[in-house]
Amino acid sequence: MDLSDRVAIVTGGGRGIGRAIALKLAEVGATVVVNDFGDPAPAEGVVEEIKAMNQSGMAVMADVSSVADVDRLVATTIDNYQQVDILVNNAGITRDQLLLRMTDEDWDMVMSVNLKSVFLCTRAVLKHMVRQRRGRIVSIASIVGIVGNAGQANYAAAKAGIIGFTRTVAKEVASRGITANAIAPGFIDTKMTEQLGEKQRQELQSRIPLGYLGTPRDVAEAVAFLATEEARYITGQVLNVDGGMAGV
Ligand code: NAP
Repeated sequence: MDLSDRVAIVTGGGRGIGRAIALKLAEVGATVVVNDFGDPAPAEGVVEEIKAMNQSGMAVMADVSSVADVDRLVATTIDNYQQVDILVNNAGITRDQLLLRMTDEDWDMVMSVNLKSVFLCTRAVLKHMVRQRRGRIVSIASIVGIVGNAGQANYAAAKAGIIGFTRTVAKEVASRGITANAIAPGFIDTKMTEQLGEKQRQELQSRIPLGYLGTPRDVAEAVAFLATEEARYITGQVLNVDGGMAGV
């Protein structure tokens, strides 16, 4: 894999899967803009790790569900590096609750951060990618968006939305040399899955054919491949990285 001369934006890149993606892209040569929200220390730490590999990168704090913040994120990338070749829509949150108890806020928040953000970031980078006649969009969905999961109606709807969005964008921009794909991770060991109770965790783990949780690095490897020139003929696809869990 070689992503030298490529500039990537990774949303929610301060920790978990986003951090692993940012580091992997840098490892194979990309310049990486690490986006995160809230405390800047994690994203700045990731940029330090990137610089320690003798690669370039910067941290840009922005709320990916805000159009003004997203426009600033992309404008800052262009101002600093004059191009944007790879967008990884990774930022995501959960607000789990059985549907009968789910509040409007739980629904709206998850839709904004997990789905609207993908629309905003993709639209903002596409303007540049269309001009460059080159680009890679990789969005992190979830197998929950394919098979469903009790207590996650908002999250599953947002992740299923990412899949429909990705398939459509792939068709709209194919003629411009731009691909759009989604990754559907299964059960990956991060802060997001730490929130699960021990019983829920064991029950989920027993449903993974490979028998163990994935790591952020497992997801990052798949993202990096889809971002390369070698993956040029793959678009509009959903790649499950789930240890066989979804079985689809
Ligand atoms: P995580 O550890 O909770 O990290 C999520 C990152 O997104 C954090 O750095 C967070 O920043 C950032 N973020 C949250 N809201 C944001 C916003 N409005 N704007 C910008 N950044 C924001 O989660 P993860 O497990 O690495 O998950 C990464 C992606 O993979 C998500 O889309 C998730 O749905 C998906 N996924 C995860 C799993 C899994 O098993 N872990 C499975 C399937 C899919 P803060 O530090 O400020 O919160």
